[in-house]
Amino acid sequence: MKNHFVRVFAILAVTFFGIGSAYAGFLAFPISGYSSSSAPVSAVMDHNSSWNYIKTFTGESGSYWDGCLAYVNGQNVACDSSNTAYPWGYKRPGGAKWSTPGLNYVDYAPGDDIYMWYDNHHGYDYAVPQWTPVYAAAAGTLASIDPTWGQIKIDHGNGYKTAYTHMYLALPQPQNIAKGSILGWVSNVAPVYVGIHLHFEVERNTGGQWYEVDPYGGSGEPVLWE
Ligand SMILES: [Zn+2]
Repeated sequence: MKNHFVRVFAILAVTFFGIGSAYAGFLAFPISGYSSSSAPVSAVMDHNSSWNYIKTFTGESGSYWDGCLAYVNGQNVACDSSNTAYPWGYKRPGGAKWSTPGLNYVDYAPGDDIYMWYDNHHGYDYAVPQWTPVYAAAAGTLASIDPTWGQIKIDHGNGYKTAYTHMYLALPQPQNIAKGSILGWVSNVAPVYVGIHLHFEVERNTGGQWYEVDPYGGSGEPVLWE
């Protein structure tokens, strides 16, 4: 009888709380047509603050190595003198490939996935085609809009904020934003050259201060994807 009760409770819990999904987080993936494990990642969150050195949530680290940001106008291009504006490539010792489980790479030089981008990066860069729709990852209130950087921030009211950057903005936005509502379209909106991608960032309030955290886990964070 006791076991039966436990089983019934477990089924009810799965029904009402969604337990049993891959993750227990609350964030839907914000880019139309992609998931947290299928979108091409061009820069992961750097868990290290030392200059010329990055450390990913996988624990792998690498040092500055010349390269170029060769994902221009929605396509991979070869590294050459015409597109070396952002030489922020980082290589693991010996040029070994980085492993970011479940994530895809964008090749920066043809056939080359040994570069990781970039130092002191506080979010994830998803290099998907321009004009791909971006949706609110969870319900919340509008925290800020910054047209200069094509950015919208949402406060989810549970100690977390999300930020979506470099978008062509969908305006106006209501004060109360529903989960899955349109925020904008992936672009390269910024006062400097950034290439076309969505910069996605999550902040958590700890002791009254907001700190960027990794939605994929790592550094002791829970996985925040649902
Ligand atoms: Zn970024």
